[in-house]
Amino acid sequence: MSENRMNSRRTVLKNAAGLVGLALVGSAFAEEKKKPEEKKPEVKKAGDIPLLDEKLPAAAGLKYTHDASKLAPSVRTEKSGVSGKDQTCVNCMFYKKSGMVGKDEVGACQLFPQGAVKGKGWCMSWTKKA
Ligand code: SF4
Repeated sequence: MSENRMNSRRTVLKNAAGLVGLALVGSAFAEEKKKPEEKKPEVKKAGDIPLLDEKLPAAAGLKYTHDASKLAPSVRTEKSGVSGKDQTCVNCMFYKKSGMVGKDEVGACQLFPQGAVKGKGWCMSWTKKA
């Protein structure tokens, strides 16, 4: 076989290998594009999660209740110029409303990720909303 013919054959083989490589990259890219969009994790709203169990040690330790109006007046004392009777989860800085459960507004409390709190609830960590 002549030298020219050998070089020509090598060139053809190199070009073929290059094309196969391009085809593989192209098909991998196409597969990547075909992948269905990954399902985003569902963000739960407080209305979707169960209410916080008042007997949970973390909740009970802070005297959390779903209905602050049932507390003895001596339990809720004045804080930051807000009288005890005016302190509820709704006006606490840790509360974020998320919906309604029946007639009750509910929301997420940063202190209790275990469950939703009621807007009319209260605990000892109540802090005036800015
Ligand atoms: Fe309610 Fe605030 Fe206590 Fe959370 S920290 S339970 S929002 S009073």
